[in-house]
Amino acid sequence: MGRALIIGAGGVAGVVIHKCCQNSEVFEEICIASRTKSKCDAFKQKLDGGKTKITTAQVNADNTDEVIALINSYKPDIVINVALPYQDLTIMDACLATKTDYMDTANYEPEDTAKFEYKWQWAYRDKFREAGITALLGSGFDPGVTGVFCAYAQKHHFDEIHYIDILDANAGDHGYPFATNFNPEINIREVTANGSYFKDGRFIETEPMSIKRVYSFPEIGEKDMYLLHHEEIESLALNIKGIKQIRFFMTFSEQYLTHLRVLQNVGMTSIEPINYEGHRIVPLQFLKAVLPDPASLGPRTKGKTNIGCIFRGVKDGKEKTYYLYNVCDHQACYKEVGSQAISYTTGVPAMIGAAMVMTGKWKRPGVYNIEEFDPDPFMDALNKFGLPWQESFNPDLVD
Ligand code: NDP
Repeated sequence: MGRALIIGAGGVAGVVIHKCCQNSEVFEEICIASRTKSKCDAFKQKLDGGKTKITTAQVNADNTDEVIALINSYKPDIVINVALPYQDLTIMDACLATKTDYMDTANYEPEDTAKFEYKWQWAYRDKFREAGITALLGSGFDPGVTGVFCAYAQKHHFDEIHYIDILDANAGDHGYPFATNFNPEINIREVTANGSYFKDGRFIETEPMSIKRVYSFPEIGEKDMYLLHHEEIESLALNIKGIKQIRFFMTFSEQYLTHLRVLQNVGMTSIEPINYEGHRIVPLQFLKAVLPDPASLGPRTKGKTNIGCIFRGVKDGKEKTYYLYNVCDHQACYKEVGSQAISYTTGVPAMIGAAMVMTGKWKRPGVYNIEEFDPDPFMDALNKFGLPWQESFNPDLVD
């Protein structure tokens, strides 16, 4: 079918690369390009010899001209951005300049504020439409599969969805006192930011970790979970008709929260640069450097994740409840692709999203969030590529 340029060579990229190679009918060729080329070469070495032809390149994706030059020389059908959210706009600019489709898994963030808003990327809508190219935003798990679940529930199960609770549980244990499952800088920015949820047409801000619930997750059991702001709430609030409330909860252990509280209290999670012995350092970036690399957690992590959405709404005049979720086993993921479930649950939907655009199923000029497309082919692909979903019509509800 065609060729994809994958930018980034971290935990998520590793899974995307494996999955593209498993879907060689669509991904005949891939180029892995990142800041540190040796990481790209290591993936190539591991996976070379299959049907997908792999090449590698060095690129600093903060520099639009470098990305343009790489696209012009490789001529991909799509750019899969699995670098960091800071690079979203430079890569989108390069896609515009070269008329190439674009996809990512996390919304753009300026380095100096942690806002988790789509406004910067939505501002590209007209430009992408006029250029005749597609940008698919947020094709990971959350955002990503959670949005596809919403579109699927809307299409097949409800006339109107009124309440959505997105529940993200990770019961994985890596044996370290404190580590983050994906990029520590992005992860800590997310959990130390104010929480927020959508209710009756507006967003209500909450203090970080101030709303706690206990939920008994299928295949995982009872967990403490906390309300967070999460980027998909912003787009779902616009795209799910009749919606009254959307909340996002993530599980955290007491141990994780205690470490985080201490790190916050001593100033280590700050993104304000400080001067240290003549060097300008950002405390959170320094913290990232001393924490375990998320990619190293794979062999150590045991247990499962359960991520899904509970819907309440109306079908044929009657109230209805519906729960769609995926359970993923850390060790099974590691056995298959050498990564833990957090990278796996992000990388599989990233490959699927790119395949949807490349095969023309989701090709539509403009900038779109994932729930704006037909969910059915994506739902089929989840079952096929390692993230089978389950449903329940009588789930426990979150009060
Ligand atoms: P990692 O930190 O493991 O990997 C990031 C990669 O991007 C690294 O290889 C890094 O290079 C590369 N990179 C960073 N800056 C640049 C640059 N300027 N130019 C080129 N390459 C660059 O992160 P993850 O793999 O854990 O996460 C990847 C993305 O996935 C993030 O945007 C994250 O927010 C998102 N994500 C989304 C989820 C979802 O469900 N939607 C869940 C989890 C993550 P180097 O090796 O040199 O540092």
